Amino acid sequence: MNIQSSIFIKSSAHWNECPDDNKPEFAFIGRSNVGKSSLINYLIDKKGLSKISNTPGKTKTINHFLINEQWYLVDLPGYGYAKVSKDLREKFSIQITNYIINRKNLISLFLLIDSRHEPLVKDLEFMTWLNENNICFTIIFTKLDKLNKGDSVKNIETYKNKLLETWEETPLFFISSSTKKIGKELIINYINNTFKELNFKFKKT
Ligand code: GDP
Repeated sequence: MNIQSSIFIKSSAHWNECPDDNKPEFAFIGRSNVGKSSLINYLIDKKGLSKISNTPGKTKTINHFLINEQWYLVDLPGYGYAKVSKDLREKFSIQITNYIINRKNLISLFLLIDSRHEPLVKDLEFMTWLNENNICFTIIFTKLDKLNKGDSVKNIETYKNKLLETWEETPLFFISSSTKKIGKELIINYINNTFKELNFKFKKT
């Protein structure tokens, strides 16, 4: 699937202010500074559309981008960054939680993990929570260019093994580098296939 058009539609401070629409949504979430804005810009090919800044924790709203007039790419607030006050952190997480649990349009969530980092308890807990709530998600390991091949393979293996301590199988995962332009095709294909499957199911019912 080519991305022919991407239009910023809306920033919502509250989950129930999201667009009143029934188009499928694919949401991106991760710790602040994980490279989420860069990845979104790389995926939809628009520099600066999702703002990359030097101030981690800046995305405080739920941002909807309409892609090919068919589906929404949703940029969720970055979580868990110390620079944001506890109060604000709690506010974000309430909105994120509500969006994830209540938003009927949400088809799949991409959880971004910095490929350089060891598995963090908070991220693992978040995945368990997603699983317990039957939320379909996949992992995207970001900033792959920051590691040499051996280290990236080793880190991803470590991550998978950590997950397998408690999970029967690991979630689907992708690798990416916005700087070196790695990963776009597989991520967009996954969205496309999921989208096609949805249309198929929709037509059958
Ligand atoms: P966000 O807070 O998750 O939205 O992260 P940003 O996209 O704003 O990126 C945070 C920092 O990481 C910025 O300095 C980016 O230039 C840098 N960055 C993001 N993605 C990559 C990547 O794939 N490779 C490298 N080397 N740096 C990246």
